[in-house]
Amino acid sequence: MNKSGKLFIVPTPIGNLKDMTLRSIEVLNSVDYILAEDTRTSQPLLQHYNIQTPLKSYHSFNEHYILQNILIDLKNNKNIALISDAGTPAISDPGYLIVKHCIDNNVKVECLPGPTAFIPALVCSGKPLHHFVFIGFLPIKKGRQTKLQEISLLPYTIVLYESPHKLLKTLNDLKNIFGAEKPIGISREISKIFEEHLRGSIEEMIQHFTKHLPKGEMVIVI
Ligand code: SAM
Repeated sequence: MNKSGKLFIVPTPIGNLKDMTLRSIEVLNSVDYILAEDTRTSQPLLQHYNIQTPLKSYHSFNEHYILQNILIDLKNNKNIALISDAGTPAISDPGYLIVKHCIDNNVKVECLPGPTAFIPALVCSGKPLHHFVFIGFLPIKKGRQTKLQEISLLPYTIVLYESPHKLLKTLNDLKNIFGAEKPIGISREISKIFEEHLRGSIEEMIQHFTKHLPKGEMVIVI
């Protein structure tokens, strides 16, 4: 019989603090400790919900080193939650490695349903959603062109994450691959005060963001 504890993957809001589910609060209150991508970033959320569970750091720079200790704690019947700075851990955030290790070591993993940026962006894009491909961030340099070529051949709706300061460069790269007239969607600041869903050709988006400096977090849907 498996007597280990459980690893809970807990999504947190991507802007609006009210997007925290009741079950996420319950789990974060009940676990032995919380692994957080950045403990300072998570503090306001945890304080808002009066969650006083001890916090430990878990990020892409230390995950390889602390993985074994986390596994020992889980095997010793401790329940642990993983949160990232925003949204669902392991979606363009740390988390994959610990989930894989738990599965390989017969430790139960539960991922709570909750906030993630790409679902609202996809739904609001108005693009067909029976098949879509989540790419996340494009490689910055090495492999970027290969990845762009690869996605240009996919007969599916494609989702990319992008930061505001790289948006115009990415739109220009997409223009070279898909052509200026390709219709896309850009969702900005989802669940925040200045939430915006723009739809138009790649060229129109380039014109728009040349006039209005890109600000906030972005999802591109092609
Ligand atoms: N784990 C997160 C998730 O589940 O969506 C993603 C984390 S990734 C480091 C951050 C990227 O997600 C941003 O650069 C942006 O592309 C997207 N993102 C996060 N919050 C967003 C928001 N409120 N509106 C639009 N895009 C957002």
